[in-house]
Formats: sequence, C-alpha cells, structure tokens
Amino acid sequence: MNIILLGPPGAGKGTQAQHLVETRGMVQLSTGDMLRAARTSGTEMGKKVAEIMDAGKLVTDEIVIGLIEEQLTTQKGAGFIFDGFPRTLAQADALAALLTKLGQSLHTVIEMRVDDETLVQRIVNRAEQARAAGQPVRADDNAESVRVRLMEYYRKTSPLIGYYYAKGDLRPVNGLAEIKEVTASIEAILG
Ligand code: AMP
Repeated sequence: MNIILLGPPGAGKGTQAQHLVETRGMVQLSTGDMLRAARTSGTEMGKKVAEIMDAGKLVTDEIVIGLIEEQLTTQKGAGFIFDGFPRTLAQADALAALLTKLGQSLHTVIEMRVDDETLVQRIVNRAEQARAAGQPVRADDNAESVRVRLMEYYRKTSPLIGYYYAKGDLRPVNGLAEIKEVTASIEAILG
C-alpha cells in the first residue's frame, strides 16, 4: 500500500508518517529529510540546494524525482509513505510513471487540512521548542522563509489537490485535530 501525505508545511505530515512507520512497518520517503541529509554530508547536490531550501523555495523537479527513484528501487517495506513529495504536477506525473514501471500503484492521497494561521504558529513553535531543547533549528523555520514556503505551496503544490481529487484518490482529514485524532482518522481511511 503506497500513500501520499499531502498538505502545507506544518500540517503534521512528518508526525503522522512516523506513526505509520512504527505501527505498520511502512517506509517513509521524505524528500525534505533526504535533501537535509545531502546538505549535512556535503555532497555537490546538497551544496547546490542549500540556499534554495533556506529561502523556502522548491528545489528542481529533476533533483527530487532522482532522489525518489533511487529510494523506490532500493528500499523495501510494507508500502511507501510519500511525505513532502510530490509538490508539483510534474512530480506527480513522474511518481505515477515510476510506480507503474515498478508494477506498483498509489492507494490513497491523504490531504491534511490546516488553516494558515495555525500553520505559521506551528512552525514558529517547532523552532522555539528546538531552541529550548538545545537542538538545531531548521534554517527555513523563520518568518520570512515560512511565508515563501506557504506561497510555494499555494502556487505549485495545492493544484495537486484537484489533480488527485479528479483521479478519485483524495481523502481529506482534519489536520487541526489532536495528533491522536488525526492518527485515528488516517487509520480509518487505510483500514
Ligand atoms: P520539508 O521538510 O518537506 O518541509 O522540505 C523542506 C524543503 O526542502 C522545502 O522547502 C524545499 O526547499 C525542499 N523540498 C522538499 N521536498 C521537495 C519537493 N518534493 N520538491 C521541491 N523541493 C522540495
């Protein structure tokens, strides 16, 4: 069972993906995590994308599709959770083609709905908590980058809601509920 967690930054995609990994043995494929790892390890690609990420812009489709393809062909588990991918229509088409090539398909796209004010607040809180705990704060968790990330989401990623709705794959959940309630809604959808 392969699923997409779709939603703006701060919607709780990573938190819910983690739960599915723990309870179902699914494999989380977060392009954000992959890109951050590439930066830390100092690869050419990591250096190339660092500035773009910190500004809150999307990196090129080519780069993230390449990362996803590499993981899809090497990782094994009880299905993939796409977290933060796809983020553009070109990425969505590429994912469909990759899955078909591997003889697989997409089961469901879970749309995590959250209002904008809550998103900004959650991201600011995430940064504050990290700071208080002496942990590294994401360079893109600042007010200016968050604003750009939201704009990128509305311009480039939100069209995917219509795309997957038209395909009949979309299932919305209320991302404003308590974490446990969101988890329960997702469990109910996945069965
Ligand atoms: P995230 O951890 O999902 O919030 O991603 C952090 C940053 O990584 C984003 O703001 C983008 O700069 C970049 N990124 C992650 N996933 C993608 C993607 N699918 N397409 C383009 N850029 C991405």
